[in-house]
Amino acid sequence: MKSNNEDLSYIINHLGEDHSTYFNAVAPPIIQTSNFMFETVEHMRTAFKDEMSTYIYSRGVNPTVDILRKKLAALDSAEDALVFNCGSAAVFAGLLANVKAGDHVLSVHHPYSWTTHTFDQILSRFGVTITYADGSDTESFLTHVQPNTSLIFLESPNSWFLDIQDLGAIAQFAKKRGIVTMIDNTYCTPLYQRPIEYGIDLVMQTATKYIGGHSDTLGGVLTGSKKMMEKIFKSEYLAIGSGIQPMNAWLLLRGLRTLPARVDRIDQSTKKVLEYLKQEDKVESIIFPHDPGFPQYELAKKQMKKAFGLLSFYIKAQKVEEIEKFCNSLKCFRMAVSWGGHESLVIPKCSGIDRSAFDPKEPTHRLIRLYIGLEDADFLIQDLQQGFSGIGSL
Ligand SMILES: *Cc1c(COP(=O)(O)O)cnc(C)c1O
Repeated sequence: MKSNNEDLSYIINHLGEDHSTYFNAVAPPIIQTSNFMFETVEHMRTAFKDEMSTYIYSRGVNPTVDILRKKLAALDSAEDALVFNCGSAAVFAGLLANVKAGDHVLSVHHPYSWTTHTFDQILSRFGVTITYADGSDTESFLTHVQPNTSLIFLESPNSWFLDIQDLGAIAQFAKKRGIVTMIDNTYCTPLYQRPIEYGIDLVMQTATKYIGGHSDTLGGVLTGSKKMMEKIFKSEYLAIGSGIQPMNAWLLLRGLRTLPARVDRIDQSTKKVLEYLKQEDKVESIIFPHDPGFPQYELAKKQMKKAFGLLSFYIKAQKVEEIEKFCNSLKCFRMAVSWGGHESLVIPKCSGIDRSAFDPKEPTHRLIRLYIGLEDADFLIQDLQQGFSGIGSL
């Protein structure tokens, strides 16, 4: 039995790559074709019988995408994977494949905004009902299951409050009742949390974030059993046509080569930035799953090998202008959505509300999310220091 790290090196550097089929090139080619041809009718007939493992048309399977697909499945210790044009497309296909009119979905509260939109604005039009509940207390969360619940949707941790759910306990409960479990696993990457090993059926991650890692492409992933992947492939994947393009799959393969090195560095820098934030006067409190003060610290330690990259904190501020001045003055942290790339990021919750609605007594209005990228930690800390030092004078 190989160690986890050897496995990881094998998966990232070797698995799925057959260099003899492309002139022994070290880097796999971008097979930029829509179509594949056949020598005989019999060959074509055989291919039609197994569309998921033969090259017929690139809306289905494409050789460049296939290399990525094999690696991503193995990283999640899943039987198979499907790679999408973006994370949202993966969520959409995964949900659509597992609900029908009359079904009920139980979701954790505050999932990703476009996941919420899919539930509230799209699936609701087709007779699917949805309940959002706090997933931090498993027992009370599961009281919301109804006789017609067909799917439980998790996001652990989510991207602002970093709430987590007990994956093993929820999966076990759902399995007994024939309810499909699906998770958005973007925060941890497959390196640090493998929900399939806890019994979750369907795992989604946004490859736009850490897999790509350079903020230059979008991508999304679903992993699960062969049966689940086949069900989605033969229906939603082919019908919606939101599979990834070969060029973008190639960029993700390129990003994947350095994933362990990047997240390792991000992990080290996150620790240093956290240390700094903890002793900064203008920081009221920090939200970070592997911080002993985190309400679900024990569970976070148990099911997430690491927490890194994303963290939130409440800034001490009486006026919205103070938060604006802090964010506007940062030079190394870029103000932007998304995360997982090379560049460190900042986004204040108050950017989503009207200035006039700002209330300092409402803690979420004072919430700021940071993403720690690949820059040197001291470079980032200096930037935060100068940002905080500017707000005392308002
Ligand atoms: C970014 C993100 C998504 C959506 O991914 P896209 O690739 O932008 O479509 C979904 N879930 C989470 C947690 C995200 O951060």
